[in-house]
Amino acid sequence: MVLLEIAAVTKVYGPLRALDGVDLLVEAGTFHGLIGPNGSGKSTLLKSIAGAHFPTTGTIRFDGMDITEMPPYQRARNGLSLKFQITAVLTELSVYDNVLLALQSAETSWQLLRSSSRLRLNDEVMVALDRFRLADRADDLAGELSHGEQQWLEIAMALAPKPKLLLLDEPTGGMSPEERRVTGELLEPIKPDCTLIIVEHDLDFIKNICDRLTVLDQGRVIGSGTIDEIERDPRVQEIYTSRV
Ligand code: ADP
Ligand code: MG
Repeated sequence: MVLLEIAAVTKVYGPLRALDGVDLLVEAGTFHGLIGPNGSGKSTLLKSIAGAHFPTTGTIRFDGMDITEMPPYQRARNGLSLKFQITAVLTELSVYDNVLLALQSAETSWQLLRSSSRLRLNDEVMVALDRFRLADRADDLAGELSHGEQQWLEIAMALAPKPKLLLLDEPTGGMSPEERRVTGELLEPIKPDCTLIIVEHDLDFIKNICDRLTVLDQGRVIGSGTIDEIERDPRVQEIYTSRV
């Protein structure tokens, strides 16, 4: 089943075409990698999917709905979740409260008023933390976590409301090789529940966890397919051997 369908999406900033007619299909239950040189439009594409901005032209369909102009909070309610490139945990709050806030913001006010809500949320917070090896850090301030742990906390927060599609923009930026390896290990088990689109520079990392890759260059898709297909694609080789 196709979960996300992007058709002819363009995003124009003044004279610059950050996205220039992007088509992309993402099947439910797959991990999809987005690669390409700096400035090729990867973050712009993720933001268009999440609703951080609207495309200039084109359409985005998610889970059977046209979401092209849907506000971000409604996309989130419908099962879309994004972790931006820049870490955005609240460092003065505890690790626990960061996840609690992420969950509460996904609830309606009616759900929050029900007395069972806090207890149920407590279980969900601990499951989310446990999944990313942060359960024993629950009472620490988020600011006391290492950079890598803060990235994991953010992924845990993005996953806590149980999205259908998670968008990750360079989640392993600034991580040690060991932290990267662990990140791959921690993401793998979410596959049955959540489709993933991930932007990454580390090709080995992305090849290990992704089923399919899409390559962007100057706002255009220059290749999309399985890892093998992409590795054999001469246009992709040209970019990766001569320009990255
Ligand atoms: P990537 O994530 O692949 O490195 P981006 O999507 O961040 O690339 O950027 C694509 C192009 O769009 C770049 O040339 C960038 O400078 C430009 N761009 C991104 N956001 C804006 C913005 N808000 N205003 C103007 N130009 C932007
Ligand atoms: Mg980017």
